[in-house]
Amino acid sequence: ADVFHSTPYAPPDAIFALTAGYQQDKFDKKVNLGVGAYRDNEGKPFVLPVVRKAKQILASDDSIDHEYLPIAGLPSFVSATSKLIFGADSRAIKEDRVVTIQTISGTGANHYGGAFLQRFYEPWLGKSKEEKKIYVSNPTWANHKAIFNSVGLTPVDYPYYDSSTIGLALSSFLDFLRTAPAQSVILLHACAHNPTGVDPTRDEWKEIAKIFKEKGHFAFFDCAYQGFASGDLDNDAWAVRHFVSESIPLLVCQSYAKNAGLYGERIGALNIVASHAGDVEGGAARIKSQLLILQRQEISNPPTFGARIVSLILNDEKLFAEWKEDIETMAHRIIAMRERLHALLVDKYKTPAPGPNGWDHVVKQIGMFTFTGLNPTQCKAMVEKGHIYMTANGRISMAGINDKNVEWVAECIDKAIR
Ligand code: PLP
Repeated sequence: ADVFHSTPYAPPDAIFALTAGYQQDKFDKKVNLGVGAYRDNEGKPFVLPVVRKAKQILASDDSIDHEYLPIAGLPSFVSATSKLIFGADSRAIKEDRVVTIQTISGTGANHYGGAFLQRFYEPWLGKSKEEKKIYVSNPTWANHKAIFNSVGLTPVDYPYYDSSTIGLALSSFLDFLRTAPAQSVILLHACAHNPTGVDPTRDEWKEIAKIFKEKGHFAFFDCAYQGFASGDLDNDAWAVRHFVSESIPLLVCQSYAKNAGLYGERIGALNIVASHAGDVEGGAARIKSQLLILQRQEISNPPTFGARIVSLILNDEKLFAEWKEDIETMAHRIIAMRERLHALLVDKYKTPAPGPNGWDHVVKQIGMFTFTGLNPTQCKAMVEKGHIYMTANGRISMAGINDKNVEWVAECIDKAIR
């Protein structure tokens, strides 16, 4: 008997399907702006110089073995990663209220964050899956909804992006926060919002935090781009640190995929800030004990290689300084490409803009992605006529643009719009 007879064919992942189309394309000026991975000015994957160095150090260290790591992860990584996001002088860390566990990159952190809340978030005890709502920005990273669904939560959109201004829908966002039930769980992109590149300003974050505090909302921070947004690690952690200083209940997912270029090594962390230290009710030790159970059930022990590389970088002053330079190299190349593209569209092609503020959004948006404002028909023309591979929502990865292809990208945007 065919025991898998009724297995339905699942749709392919949109981004990976796009990459497959790109690879098959024979056109010499083809460009891949779909994938969310940094490329250097030659369009090549970039191994950070500091990562090369760390790998050499590891390769020459004969004391390194291949034993299992502790369930929570490599201790020197775990303690350093929480300091990177909360700040070395964070009160929450000093008070032993931060629980950190090494995860399978940002995806694993999101998964455990959702799974932990599903089991233990007090306002949800005894509730059904439909009642366990996690609010996510509209739009958000394509995988968020799938991840939260898979751990027994119900993802629900909140207003975030205003397509008429190609910017933040601040007043609808704030209204939503005010009218959502008290103690709602709300996902926030800590910086470099994916896919829009639209982040709140510091003043806007303060307003957002104020309502979180008043309503007792829980902040589920996803921080996949620390350092990548502005080129400055502390700057990009500002919103998270502000929420911590306001004693808003929260967790933070971290990823070293983008900021250390360690995509395939799958290194990240989940940090939960407890209101108390130790093993009292609600204490950090109790939370940690449950995270260890989650980890044990899913992967037993986390992998070593990425953790060792990041641990070396975070714990060595010289390597850390070199990492910051590498991050600046990546962030500044992207910012430079934003400026080039903007100048070409405005000055050279005088391309009619899709929004009321001209093409300013190209330079104002933050991080790896730009939400161009192109509509689905225009995006289709970009792919079919320009051989420029991008998603139908108008998102382009700035990391895929370089000195050689920026003119072609601008020309195709111009043609697609006219
Ligand atoms: N969260 C956001 C918002 C992302 O954009 C990404 C990657 O694109 C991730 C999480 C997770 O990435 P990874 O699992 O590779 O760290």
